[in-house]
Formats: sequence, structure tokens, C-alpha cells
Amino acid sequence: MTLTLDAPHPALAAWDRSGPELLVGGVPLSRLAARVGSTPFFAYDREKLTARVGRLRRFLPEAIHLHYAVKANPMPALVAHMAGLVDGFDVASAGEMATALDAGMAPQHVSFAGPGKTDAELRRAVAAGIVVEAESEGEVRRLAAQAAALGLSATVVVRVNPDFALKGSGMKMGGGPQQFGVDAERVPALLRLIGDLSLDFAGFHIFAGSQNLRADQLALAQERTVDLALRLAGQAPGPVRHLNLGGGFGIPYFPDDRPLDLGPVADSLARAALRLGERLPGARLILELGRYLVGEAGVYVCRVVDRKESRGQVFLVTDGGLHHHLAASGNFGQVIRRNYPLAIGTRMDRPAEETASVVGCLCTPLDLLGDRCALPRAEVGDLLVVFQSGAYGTTASPAAFLGHPPPAEVLV
Ligand SMILES: *Cc1c(COP(=O)(O)O)cnc(C)c1O
Repeated sequence: MTLTLDAPHPALAAWDRSGPELLVGGVPLSRLAARVGSTPFFAYDREKLTARVGRLRRFLPEAIHLHYAVKANPMPALVAHMAGLVDGFDVASAGEMATALDAGMAPQHVSFAGPGKTDAELRRAVAAGIVVEAESEGEVRRLAAQAAALGLSATVVVRVNPDFALKGSGMKMGGGPQQFGVDAERVPALLRLIGDLSLDFAGFHIFAGSQNLRADQLALAQERTVDLALRLAGQAPGPVRHLNLGGGFGIPYFPDDRPLDLGPVADSLARAALRLGERLPGARLILELGRYLVGEAGVYVCRVVDRKESRGQVFLVTDGGLHHHLAASGNFGQVIRRNYPLAIGTRMDRPAEETASVVGCLCTPLDLLGDRCALPRAEVGDLLVVFQSGAYGTTASPAAFLGHPPPAEVLV
């Protein structure tokens, strides 16, 4: 699981490594660190975000609307940049809703999913005029009560827990018993309730899983999603205007991961769009993606503060760690700990010269950013870069653990 410049991880191939310093948004890394004023920091590359969405759009059929799942990276400046690139935002809290609306997205293209929405959140959502994706019967009743109290109509989409799972997902979020969505077999009764409560029924949201690199499995899940949506649409209290087909596109994090092959997934979406266009004309078809859009456009940068040897092993001790980047330490849902792609961002032109483990500054053995990596020889003061860090970074990490300051974030 070593990473060398001779055999770069596919994630590194996308970055300019022509000089000694990594360039982020065209800025050499040590200059960027000076501009930010402190390490560690997350840096996101605007041009990479734009290029990523552009490339995906070239594959997608025109009928597919692209939504960004804000929870992957809710940095306000990044969300504002994404607002100009995608067709809508999916949010998972009233806080994310506020970020999405501040970014300028039209409320009717913001949808709010997630279990445990409070009455206060539902009230804010109704007042904002966004789409609420109901996760349970109880939530539908509470939504109707808030709408009545405000004297406003509430637009509701039923989040369906499908009767199938997406195989090969890093995180399974559909099929079997779930806290997410309403079991497909219970949806017909819920649709009658929505009709009785005079809510504005808009459609369905069917999300089966996340972080999937298998095009065949994604295509299969898309086909089943269409089958299920068509079956349920026959029992809906009104026409389907909003159909969220899920997402789940993964990015390669680990040495054996291969980037997702978009061709077959796009073909499958084209077939889905054709079937749905005939059977549910007027339905806005949505693909919702988080990490696929932003994950590869970001790096986590920390500084080497100590270099030490212990019984023959070299340790690069950095000022970063799992309090900023839990996922890179292997403690955010991974079953087996593997290394994210790493580099010494101030020695990009050097070959691998030694095997070193990269650790953070927390007093726990869990705080491991790189286990025995092949790297150029780094000294105190060098900048270490963790790639694939544009999604589920600082906001998915236990910032308060051990009382160090939070990382800075910069969009370049
Ligand atoms: C988390 C989440 C996403 C985003 O997942 P990614 O793996 O970042 O694409 C999309 N939809 C729903 C419902 C989610 O909960």
C-alpha cells in the first residue's frame, strides 16, 4: 500500500506535479500556506470543481438534473460556487438549508432529506418554500401541522427505503430495515395519508447507497429504482413532478480502487430517462451526488512538526490529524484501515526515498494519516498533503477532540 511518484495513485495524476511544489488553483503550496496564514488547512480548487461537473454533464443525458448533496462539503464559498454549476441542492439540516439559500439556489430546487427533522426545522423548510423529503409517517403528519400553522402549502416528496440494496457501497443506506425513508411496501398507505392531509405531493426520492465504484451495480440499482418509482407512481395522489433517482457514485481513495467508469452508468441513466419520459412526462429527474463532485477537488494540508525514529520506523509527526480529517485516519466508516493518497507537497519532484508513517498531533494511536508510506525524505517544516479530501473532511471530524484549533478552509 505504498504510494510512489513512479506509480501515482489515479487521484494524483489529476494534479500538476511538474515542479517541486504542488499547485492548488495555480498557487504553489507554500505560498498558499502563507496566504492562509496557518496550518493545517483544507484547500479546494475551483477549476477542478468546474471541470468535474462539466465532464460529468458531457456524459449525462439532458433530462437528468444534477443536484449537489451539501453535506459532502458545506463550506459556504464552495456551495456558492456549486450553485452556478448544478441544478439543485440536497440538504440534510436547516443549517445546510440556510447555506443553500444564501448561495442563491432557488427554493424549489432545494430538497431536505434526513431522519429526525424537528418541528422547528420543518417550519423553517415550509417557510422557505423548499421541498421536504419525508422519512416517515410521523414526519408527514408533523409537516402538515407546521404548514397549517403557517397557512402555507408544503411540498412533500416521499423518501422510499427501497426493497433492494446497492451492492458494493461503502455506506448502505437502502434495503432491509433502515432509519432512512419509508419502506417501499408502506408507501401506498402513506400516499393516501398525504392526499388526505392535502399536502402538495411532488414525487419520490430513492437512495440506495453511497461511495460505489461499480458501474454495473449502479446501473442495476438505477433500473430497479425506475421499476419501483413507476410502481409507486400508480398509487400517488397526484402527478410525479420530482423524482430523485439517488446517486452513490464513488471516488477512488485507496491504491486498488479504480475510478468509476461513467460510460455504462450514463447509458443506464439514458435508458431510465427514456422509460420515465414516456411513463412520467413532466417529472424532473434528479441525480444527487456529493463526494463525486467535490471529493477529488480538495486537499488537506498539514505541516511536519517533528521527524522521529522508533525502533527502525520513521514517523513524520504533523500538526494535523483525525480531529480535522477523521476519514483519512480510517475511522469514518471504513472496515479495514487503508491510506488515503499522500504526498510531500513541498517535494513533489522527488522520488520516494524512504518508508515513513504519517501521524497527527493527537495522543491516540488512531491518529494515523499514513501507515508506512513510500515518500521523499521530509524534514520539519515540509507540507504534507492528503488528496481526495474535498468531501467529508472537517465537518465530518471530531473538531473538539483534544482542544486543538479547527483547520482553515480556502477555495482557490
Ligand atoms: C449523504 C447522502 C448523499 C451524498 O452521498 P455521497 O457519497 O457524498 O455522494 C446523497 N444523498 C443522500 C440522501 C445522502 O444521505
